[in-house]
Amino acid sequence: MSPSLEIAVRVGGAAAVFAVLALWEWLAPRRHLTVGRRPRWPGNLGILAIDIVAVRLLVPTAAVGVALIAAERGWGLFAMLGLPAWAAVVVGVIALDLVIYIQHVVFHHVPALWRLHRMHHADLDIDVTTGVRFHPLEILLSLAIKMAAVVIFGVPALAVLTFEVLLNATSMFNHTNVALPSWLEPIARWLVVTPQMHQVHHSIERAETDSNFGFNLPWWDRLFGTYRAKPSAGEQGVTIGLPIFRDVAELAIIRLLTQPFRNAR
Ligand SMILES: [Zn+2]
Ligand SMILES: [Zn+2]
Repeated sequence: MSPSLEIAVRVGGAAAVFAVLALWEWLAPRRHLTVGRRPRWPGNLGILAIDIVAVRLLVPTAAVGVALIAAERGWGLFAMLGLPAWAAVVVGVIALDLVIYIQHVVFHHVPALWRLHRMHHADLDIDVTTGVRFHPLEILLSLAIKMAAVVIFGVPALAVLTFEVLLNATSMFNHTNVALPSWLEPIARWLVVTPQMHQVHHSIERAETDSNFGFNLPWWDRLFGTYRAKPSAGEQGVTIGLPIFRDVAELAIIRLLTQPFRNAR
């Protein structure tokens, strides 16, 4: 696949998903936002723009490029095991999801990494834009981890592209301020991380912040004992964010960028 086609697929797909989810949460919000969109969206979307530029400038080949090189040279566990191409794609997507889950747990428990990741948690509301609010240094670090996983496993380029398109879409979806129908939600959360499931992860209560780490597949949390059904204060009552960075001024883009390097003010 040509790099320009890859970019077109990713950008076009993500923009369409964003538009649909933004419309959905505007028409049928699950919760009343405490600070709303206006103070938050410029910062969150500005961070997205910086992340896109940082990744494209510093790592133009990205993870798909590494997958193509690995395939050409026969690198990785899947090649060693002689996995058929279709199986390598399926197992590759699942393996990358497990890697991202483990990475997320590690980012919560290693203090220096938590400083990068907590910017995502400092949002005072959660909506579709929270799903793209990650510090550029976290994005670059997570890209490096993903590239290492691609080489170690020998994940095919198709699996990498599928995973990235899926992760962009599900990350936006599980932050969207919507509620799935009450009959559907308990079934859906066995297949994909739902917005109600990920809401627990944004609770101000640390034990709840340290649960529901999954982004795509909800199984890892159930398997490794990090699953929590709902926040103790309830879906409507839960306070979103962290005990620090609660000032509305912290939603400005310059503050978001500097949060890893300072406390409170
Ligand atoms: Zn987190
Ligand atoms: Zn989140």
